[in-house]
Amino acid sequence: MSQELPPSRMDKLVAVKGMNDVLPPDSARWEWLEERVRTLMTRYAYSNIRTPIVEPTALFVRGTGESTDIVEKEMYSFEDKLNGESLTLRPENTPGVVRAAIEHNLTYGGGRRLYYMGPMFRHERPQRGRYRQFYQLGAEALGFPGPELDAELILLVHNLFADLGLRNVRVELNSLGLPEERQRHRQALIGYFSQHLEALDGEARRRLHSNPLRILDTKNPAMLSLVQGAPQLLDYLGDDSLLHFETVKTLLAACNVRWEINPRLVRGLDYYSHTVFEFATDELGAQGALCGGGRYDGLFEALGGRSTPAVGWGMGLERVLELLKTQGQDNVGPSLDVYAVIAEPSILPHAMSALQALRALGVSIQMNAAQSHGLGSMKSQFKKADASGARFALVFGVDEMQNKAVAVKSLRDGKGEQVVRSLTDLPDWALTLQSPPNLQPGK
Ligand code: ATP
Ligand code: MG
Repeated sequence: MSQELPPSRMDKLVAVKGMNDVLPPDSARWEWLEERVRTLMTRYAYSNIRTPIVEPTALFVRGTGESTDIVEKEMYSFEDKLNGESLTLRPENTPGVVRAAIEHNLTYGGGRRLYYMGPMFRHERPQRGRYRQFYQLGAEALGFPGPELDAELILLVHNLFADLGLRNVRVELNSLGLPEERQRHRQALIGYFSQHLEALDGEARRRLHSNPLRILDTKNPAMLSLVQGAPQLLDYLGDDSLLHFETVKTLLAACNVRWEINPRLVRGLDYYSHTVFEFATDELGAQGALCGGGRYDGLFEALGGRSTPAVGWGMGLERVLELLKTQGQDNVGPSLDVYAVIAEPSILPHAMSALQALRALGVSIQMNAAQSHGLGSMKSQFKKADASGARFALVFGVDEMQNKAVAVKSLRDGKGEQVVRSLTDLPDWALTLQSPPNLQPGK
């Protein structure tokens, strides 16, 4: 293996292509979103699970599927230097969650509802809404065979999007039925595509016999009309599968969720069954898929566990934030109660101990700090106080300190109003602030 030369001291190191820093103030939008997610997951009784970012490569080869884009060309795999084992940065997290469920017997004695949030890695061509490190939120219901769980998971996403204020997101549904039913459909597909060999692109030709269902999922516009004329899986479903699908639709309708059937929505892997769904928008160009999911009753067995029905979804958080921005929600910020103006360094001990006590009561405070010597003029400190977006400035001046007091100046409602309070009164004043939650939309 060739050893790369260390960069010279003059080289500027930059992030890996397709992997982004999340910086303030944008990071506040992420925290706001994550907060909303956690609240909602609690409402649906989903518990958090955190699995490793690195897993054995074999987990994804078996769990994501050999003939998928992910395993064929998108994985970051490397050899563990110590024992030569092939490891992979997780490209998705369902296999990891199922591996953990098997390893720790999580579904013993009942089902489990779980959710995760974290980075995933895929070696794709970076573009808007498509990155090499991106964040997924996912929910998985393990050990439940019924269609009510498929519906619950779709309702969860619907509820989250409504709560965030997202508009113009459509829900697409399809059913993959059971493996036997897909087998008959598969033969019909191979027959159909074999008659149109000249219209297939290279990828489709390769998949014709290995995984013809995946051809339906093509992103090649030249093949769209061919794919639209292909035999539809829904026509091959038996009574039980149709009933499962009908029940999902009835439950969604009962909760006023609209959907459309998309016969091209397929997951070309044997362990999928019954419901598959996607949440998508037309407002993000080609990267319009926000959330994809479905039932995967065969995955536990494929990973060496006991047969366990399961259903889940994964959502791309960059795309959700991007759509929120497109729709005008882009100024979520942390709410700041107080900016502390401090006249001179000798006041710092007195001021910082007062601020410490206020923070213990839940007040959020940004203390003035100068970039050079001293603390900066009062004028420049007040300017910074205004720019901070805080509700109040607390002014620790020389006179105030001698009187064991502080001036409280309003920066928003009744702007400019100033009241001198004794330090002993400050805790009572803090209680009147009734701090709103630390993160709120807008300022
Ligand atoms: P796409 O069709 O856009 O490639 P996918 O079918 O590969 O999506 P899934 O594996 O189902 O996507 O992942 C679930 C969600 O994760 C997607 O709906 C999307 O929002 C998001 N996602 C997938 N790949 C990326 C990526 N490279 N960058 C950012 N988000 C992504
Ligand atoms: Mg993809």
